Amino acid sequence: MASSKKKGLKSSGPKDSNLDTNDEDKTELCPGFRDVDAFVKHGFGAVLSATKASAGLPQAGDEYDFYRSFPGFQEFCESQGDKLLHCMSQIMQHHGCRSHMRDRNKLTGLEERFDLVVDSNDVILERVGILLDEADGVNRSQQPVMPAGFQPPKVVVSSWNRKGSSPSSRSETFRLLHAKNITRPQLKFKEKVDNSNTPFIPKIFIKPNAVKPLPSYFTNKQMRKERPEDLDVPAALADFIHQQRTQEHVDDMFAHPYQYELDHLTIPENLLSKPEPQMHKPVAETKLSFVDTLEDLVALNEKLCKLSEFAVDLEHHSYRSFLGLTCLMQISTREEDFIIDTLELRSEMYILNEAFTDPSIVKVFHGADSDIEWLQRDFGLYVVNLFDTHQASRALNLARHSLDHLLKHFCNVDSDKRYQLADWRVRPLPDEMVQYARTDTHYLLYIYDCVRVQLLDFNHGQPGLLQSVWNKSSSISLKKYVKPIYTEESYLELQRKQKKSFNTQQLTAFRLLFAWRDKLARQEDESTGYVLPTHMMIKISEELPREPQGIIACCNPVPPLVRQYNNELHLLVQQAREMPLLKVRKDDDLPSVLVVCHRT
Ligand code: AMP
Ligand code: MN
Ligand code: ZN
Repeated sequence: MASSKKKGLKSSGPKDSNLDTNDEDKTELCPGFRDVDAFVKHGFGAVLSATKASAGLPQAGDEYDFYRSFPGFQEFCESQGDKLLHCMSQIMQHHGCRSHMRDRNKLTGLEERFDLVVDSNDVILERVGILLDEADGVNRSQQPVMPAGFQPPKVVVSSWNRKGSSPSSRSETFRLLHAKNITRPQLKFKEKVDNSNTPFIPKIFIKPNAVKPLPSYFTNKQMRKERPEDLDVPAALADFIHQQRTQEHVDDMFAHPYQYELDHLTIPENLLSKPEPQMHKPVAETKLSFVDTLEDLVALNEKLCKLSEFAVDLEHHSYRSFLGLTCLMQISTREEDFIIDTLELRSEMYILNEAFTDPSIVKVFHGADSDIEWLQRDFGLYVVNLFDTHQASRALNLARHSLDHLLKHFCNVDSDKRYQLADWRVRPLPDEMVQYARTDTHYLLYIYDCVRVQLLDFNHGQPGLLQSVWNKSSSISLKKYVKPIYTEESYLELQRKQKKSFNTQQLTAFRLLFAWRDKLARQEDESTGYVLPTHMMIKISEELPREPQGIIACCNPVPPLVRQYNNELHLLVQQAREMPLLKVRKDDDLPSVLVVCHRT
């Protein structure tokens, strides 16, 4: 409100009453108002009469329909409506918010406009809060505040995570981000990604193979449906709602849904005795199926449920997403290979829990630590009866424990790990990537046989060592996905890792940039490394550029969001420069009062 003095209310101000005509420039708060009280008084009056007038309008479903049958009334409503939207658009533009209030082509419906108003209110209220704090003398450099609306960015990139906006209405605003011609898979997700700064809650809502039933929290649809981040309320309110809801169910919500089953899992005798290794089929003679429809996924699940073991691997992408995305699941049976498009079937993958949590079916992974977390995070999938060949390799003390080493050692296959870091979001998948992905599971069941034989031989036929691999694997299954949580101290952890010694101004800049990066990454659903790589963040903090251009100069190449929010970043650096300049001891987080430097 404080800033609406520039445009919105200027013309409607009472020009006569509060004016000090003698020394206008020096004493006037803003044109037409002598001081804050006069401005507030006038503002309240205006708001009150507007509220009264709006309450006096014919109500929808009541007299409104009757009045509407008169063309004159309808016309009047439309012209006034347009005027109002125009006025709101101007205010929003002034605050650097999205403001297509009147553009009927770009936005449909009331809901979209309502979203815009809610967004803008957030921005404006945040500014009001910051300005009030400042006026109150609160030392704002103590807090990682986000001056969200201070400088209207040139291209406004708004949240990926907002309710209701269809992919088509987004595409225009986000052209900036389509650098690599890969459509953001997030746009197609049925359930939006939850980047809120709240702990992860398991996605599971049906629990196949349960010995202990799923707590009511997960089966109660109503509770799960209205996630706070879907409510489109300000972040603080969403956090509050979250807290209220979680209090009653804390234990259930954060427990591992299959903890009981995993704790009571016993490996049957036959899996502890020596197997006859079953040679893998040649790749060329093995059927490969792509699974990207629900129908095929259901069929696959049925097939898997009849087996006694199958091999699983995942491919993942982490650069253009805050939490990361599981892009592919490879499954191999003794007979066939499958590649599941998990971006396409993200919301349906949970049906595989029937096979994945069946204790009588062994799931063979290689190095499952991350996979277990990704399965939970993206699909609500759990694994009961896991065998991890990486753990087997360790128990056997093999020279190296990577999959390529096992492939060479047991299958004499030279694997090419070139695609490990490929962008797995790409569709259609190039053939080389398909072949690579397939290799990761195709030989795994044979390796599973070989290592079991060796683990028993190694231990003179005694099952102890093999049992320990099953146990290690089970404890990996028990891992819980933990969402990255931002706290006021998070930046210190990163600073410690970097082993950088900063003075107070540099440390403040680092803290503010860290908070900015985290907030923007969550909002835009990008990795923090995409928003602002750590080494650039350090360079900016070290150099504390005086000009916005200096921030750009610290970055090569310049991240798109750094360019876009250049002015906002510059304000943060300026804020840091206002700190008293003290040296910070190397191994210490707190500024020590050892040396006071003179700033040149
Ligand atoms: P893998 O199990 O080797 O197929 O790897 C699964 C996923 O983990 C890959 O799709 C990558 O996203 C990620 N990944 C594997 N190795 C690395 C690595 N050395 N550095 C970073 N990410 C990796
Ligand atoms: Mn893997
Ligand atoms: Zn893989």
